[in-house]
Amino acid sequence: MKTQVCIIGGGPSGLMLSQLLHLKGIDTVVLERQSREYVLGRIRAGVLEHGFAELMREAQCGERMDKEGEIHDGFLIAHGGQVSRVDLHKYSGGSSVVVYGQTELTRDLYAARDRMNGVVIHNAEDVQPHDLKSATPYVTYRSGDEVVRIDCDFVIGADGFHGVSRKSIPRDVLKEYEKVYPFGWLGVLSRTKPVSPELIYAKHERGFALCSLRSQVLSRYYIQVPLTDSVEDWSDDAFWAELKRRLPADVAAQLVTGASIEKSIAPLRSFVAEPMRYGNLFLAGDAAHIVPPTGARGLNSAASDIYYLYHAMLAHYQNGDSTGLDQYSEKALARVWKAQRFSWWMTTMLHTFPDSIAYDQKLQETDLAYLFSSEAAQRSLAENYVGLPF
Ligand SMILES: Cc1cc2nc3c(=O)[nH]c(=O)nc-3n(C[C@H](O)[C@H](O)[C@H](O)COP(=O)(O)OP(=O)(O)OC[C@H]3O[C@@H](n4cnc5c(N)ncnc54)[C@H](O)[C@@H]3O)c2cc1C
Repeated sequence: MKTQVCIIGGGPSGLMLSQLLHLKGIDTVVLERQSREYVLGRIRAGVLEHGFAELMREAQCGERMDKEGEIHDGFLIAHGGQVSRVDLHKYSGGSSVVVYGQTELTRDLYAARDRMNGVVIHNAEDVQPHDLKSATPYVTYRSGDEVVRIDCDFVIGADGFHGVSRKSIPRDVLKEYEKVYPFGWLGVLSRTKPVSPELIYAKHERGFALCSLRSQVLSRYYIQVPLTDSVEDWSDDAFWAELKRRLPADVAAQLVTGASIEKSIAPLRSFVAEPMRYGNLFLAGDAAHIVPPTGARGLNSAASDIYYLYHAMLAHYQNGDSTGLDQYSEKALARVWKAQRFSWWMTTMLHTFPDSIAYDQKLQETDLAYLFSSEAAQRSLAENYVGLPF
């Protein structure tokens, strides 16, 4: 098989790049290790920044998002017995975020790839990139007993944190930065009316909680749990009781509970791999960096990588200009690190750390007190939450 761009990973990053390049006449093949049902069964991000939404529209995949997604102009932070609102619209110069589930946008991207007869190969086993430093790299994968080879100009590593692409970069070239938090988020998805039309981030001495949503009939709630906990430790009743304890009493009184339709624990981790280019391999999205979900940056950071790569590929194929490809790693990482900083700040301010001392707790309280007493601080939060410019 031969293609121009071979993309490893059929998550949002890989599908989005494939769709954008296809619309400009650039041929791609997407190799996905899992079945489509498996990919669509993963419940993940739900808050899209303006730039991501624009990219969906440019990819001709924004119709359902624009119809069913919710525009959010702000969110709430519950702390020290009070609830304060962050006015995103006011403090970001009129911007906002779109609440639309990653599952839905992935479904839209798959539908678009199908409409255009895009090649997405599922259940591709033992995917392996080769000759990445040469001008003629290739990727192999196994389909049953057969090993298939795909020759290409470029390989895109969009295969998430556990993928094969990053591991193909030699250890003496790759530098990894990592911070593992001593807790995770237990998430529950339920077919219930959300407790609040806007997200509520709750700081509480028993641990952080988040009231999020996917639509007005689908709620997503999280509570901070120790890393030693497993999903089996938490019945639905135990989850709802603990969530209520961490919310302000008037909010807890309005919480509509119901059976969980998905329940999972995500450990919180910050990670960046540098560089994001090795020869003709380009890393994008979770393959190169992850953040704790507190600042809703994960998927949105993937979007800026795709934006830079898309434009760099276009310049290369349309004008023979490789400047964008040469600058990709540096440019993408500059924005990635800002998302890392913001996610670390939100996580540090809002969670209960098992080893924190009284001094740390005072600083957390002061951080929140300063935030809601300073327009400049709220502007900074809003600017980062709606997404820094690409
Ligand atoms: C539990 C959880 C909750 C999250 N919540 C949020 C949130 O609220 N807000 C937010 O912004 N972000 C959130 N994120 C992060 C967000 O989901 C990711 O940033 C986003 O999925 C990144 O997209 P991606 O396409 O780069 O990677 P992925 O979505 O991980 O896609 C990579 C794809 O590559 C495939 N793959 C892996 N290895 C191989 C291989 N060897 N060969 C072929 N294919 C392979 C995988 O099956 C997968 O489909 C969350 C993540 C998790 C895990």
